[in-house]
Amino acid sequence: MCGIVAYIGEKQALPILLKGLYRLEYRGYDSAGLAFLNPGLQLYKTKGKVADLETYIEGKNTSGTIGIAHTRWATHGEPNDINAHPHFSQSGKLAIIHNGIIENYAVLKEELKQRGYLFKSETDTEVLVHLIEDIMHNEKTELGEAVRIALNQVIGAYAIVIMSENDPDTLVAARKGSPLVVGIGDGEFYLASDATPIVEYTKDVVYLNDEEIAILSRKQSLTIKTIKNQIKTPYVQKLELSLTAIEKGGFEHFMLKEIYEQPRSIRDSMRGRLNAKEGRVSLGGIIDYETKMKNARRIIIIACGTSWHAGLVGEYLFEELARIPVEVEYASEFRYRNPVISEEDVVIAISQSGETADTLAAIELAKSKGATIIGICNVVGSSIPRATHAGSYTHAGPEIGVASTKAFTAQVTILTLMALRIAYMKGSIEKSRFHQIINELESIPEKVEETLKVDPEIKELARMFTFARNFLYLGRGYNFPVALEGALKLKEISYIHAEGYPAAEMKHGPIALIDREMPVVVIATNRGPYDKVISNIQEVKARNGKIIAVVTKGDIKVKELADYIIEIPETEEMLVPLLATIPLQLLSYHIAVMRDCNVDQPRNLAKSVTVE
Ligand code: GLU
Repeated sequence: MCGIVAYIGEKQALPILLKGLYRLEYRGYDSAGLAFLNPGLQLYKTKGKVADLETYIEGKNTSGTIGIAHTRWATHGEPNDINAHPHFSQSGKLAIIHNGIIENYAVLKEELKQRGYLFKSETDTEVLVHLIEDIMHNEKTELGEAVRIALNQVIGAYAIVIMSENDPDTLVAARKGSPLVVGIGDGEFYLASDATPIVEYTKDVVYLNDEEIAILSRKQSLTIKTIKNQIKTPYVQKLELSLTAIEKGGFEHFMLKEIYEQPRSIRDSMRGRLNAKEGRVSLGGIIDYETKMKNARRIIIIACGTSWHAGLVGEYLFEELARIPVEVEYASEFRYRNPVISEEDVVIAISQSGETADTLAAIELAKSKGATIIGICNVVGSSIPRATHAGSYTHAGPEIGVASTKAFTAQVTILTLMALRIAYMKGSIEKSRFHQIINELESIPEKVEETLKVDPEIKELARMFTFARNFLYLGRGYNFPVALEGALKLKEISYIHAEGYPAAEMKHGPIALIDREMPVVVIATNRGPYDKVISNIQEVKARNGKIIAVVTKGDIKVKELADYIIEIPETEEMLVPLLATIPLQLLSYHIAVMRDCNVDQPRNLAKSVTVE
């Protein structure tokens, strides 16, 4: 995880680095630091957030036109001032920032210790900077080459930037498994973990590939080579990101802004892909692989966290519409299980960031067994879209709040479009039914807008349950994944223990937990197994549980039983997740705010999990 920003050029680096760190703070926020050359190496770092770093450097010498900065999400060593990045080499002449994990750090550290190197921090990162210095010294080589030799000895994941006091005109960067983007300005270069710190200065970017090293020099154009010493021609792309998309726009938190953006993000995810009037669904990114998908023996969906919940909705969609058997897998389990995969399988990999380490590894495994891999990602140019055969971007726009909201509904939107498209090609759906569903799908953004109007009621509800210690979320059919996602949202940002369950499973265990202290959120919309859910509500009521029910507008039956109801617009059963998720996001949000939790940056979490 963690965020990296670096600059070399003619401007003062500090404002660029600080602003960039704030933009990347969603990636890691347990400590932060920066270093400049002016002309000696100045290094400042502290435990805490970027704002703490900003206070810490007040009045200090921070001038310099070359600098590196980091916001950390600790993996090795607790978050404290010493373990914060940047880290110095033994001589104090090199400084490094690193995102990722050096898996063989213990062996390397032992060897370096025996050669007399002293370690100040507990991090795996410090090993790397000592190793680079050691190589420079022993091989009498310059920084770029030493980095290359060092990276050939390293096992693990990294995005690194290194600065040397002896070479104030150069930054050396490299990546493997963790993202890194180079921004190319006029006589200047930017580096960052994603494009958000760069967008206001230049639109020309190069996304580094795994095992590539970039040399950013004031004296020459961008040089890229691999760790095997092959020179690469930089592939310069134009950024399409807008500045307003990454700012809060008047909302108190990014999460709330992103919840409210869902009518737009769902619409954007459908734009150019769904045309109800013409009766057409098409996804440009998968055109060459549609037949493969249509003929798949099986679809395996791999994902983690919220994306895994979207995958579960996908399972219901593909099975119902396209009649293809689907398995939904946690990427982290799949990759270590020696799974049975063949060339007739199609794998759909879902990840908001496109950098999720477990999902990436699962993709590589499935690819090695000959499966076709389709990606569903939000971040353009990220690693997963580049590792897959084909795929569709979600177009939800940058999601900054660590708890995923609009990315989830965008993923479900794409899965719905894919399932419909494949079903249409396969003829597994009646034409009239197909038209009915796509007409309804086109109206979903307006229905999401209408759903958002429940916000004030939910705020009231949140007031009543602010101090609950446990929550249960129940749903059946398409609403089962919604229940899981609702529970996850609450856990993530309010730290209240919450469980999601298929409503009927409750009586096989969790029912023992129910008493008058236990709020139970039931998604009880009027299609599918509605009557069965009502029976489950009765089971909870009989044990004095408090029912908060998400129902279809105009519902009478559940209203009589539930303690509180939240009404959402009527829609097709398979599209309900796109609406029913919204009130649950809002409920978690308001409870978390009332509990004074840090909504956008919940403790222990980071936005993109680039470590396994
Ligand atoms: N493994 C490094 C550390 O623990 C980097 C972690 C990160 O990516 O923030 O310091």
